[in-house]
Amino acid sequence: MKAHTYETQSTITPEKALEFLKEGNQRFVNNLKANRDLLEQVNATREGQWPFAVVLSCIDSRTSAELIFDQGLGDVFSIRIAGNFVNQDILGSMEFGCNVAGSKLIVVLGHTKCGALKGGLDAAQIEGMGMDNLNHLINHFNPIINDIIEENEERSSKNSSLLERLNLQNVRSAIEDIRKQSSTLKNLEAEGKIKIVGANYDVETGVVTWL
Ligand SMILES: [Zn+2]
Repeated sequence: MKAHTYETQSTITPEKALEFLKEGNQRFVNNLKANRDLLEQVNATREGQWPFAVVLSCIDSRTSAELIFDQGLGDVFSIRIAGNFVNQDILGSMEFGCNVAGSKLIVVLGHTKCGALKGGLDAAQIEGMGMDNLNHLINHFNPIINDIIEENEERSSKNSSLLERLNLQNVRSAIEDIRKQSSTLKNLEAEGKIKIVGANYDVETGVVTWL
């Protein structure tokens, strides 16, 4: 498999880009990695890069976009933050990926058993432990938790039903934020130049489910 070029990138539609990632995850779960010479790809991409997708995923060591979608060098812009949400800098990275560098697809990828989301559910216990920055991060999930938690439901990472719902809602919420907070990306999507999709990675099976 060769690295993408300006020519190949410019012929890829948003649908095709999604297809590439679906096929890549199929190869990953079937242990049929595409034959790629990464050193040759270093050489092929020395003058520039033409990635077809932007993937926002968690920092979780099990959710590397390049591995789970079986991609090589120059294929995807990989944005990672614990809990895969967006802020202004991440939106800026997405605008660069799509509006400057020509990517056709944005994927917000959540995953099962996410430690950041568990931290969000257990925020009260983490408070006062001196990790102000981590507290800042996990407090991001509070409005989503408050939205989905049912009356008298236990707010805890041990509540697996709540954790599962939080993961999916967090992905949907990130997609809403992209559309609300970036008119550039919203317009690219409205013009059919990009697609914005959500997905969930199962850390027990390696399978990506598209939302
Ligand atoms: Zn995570």
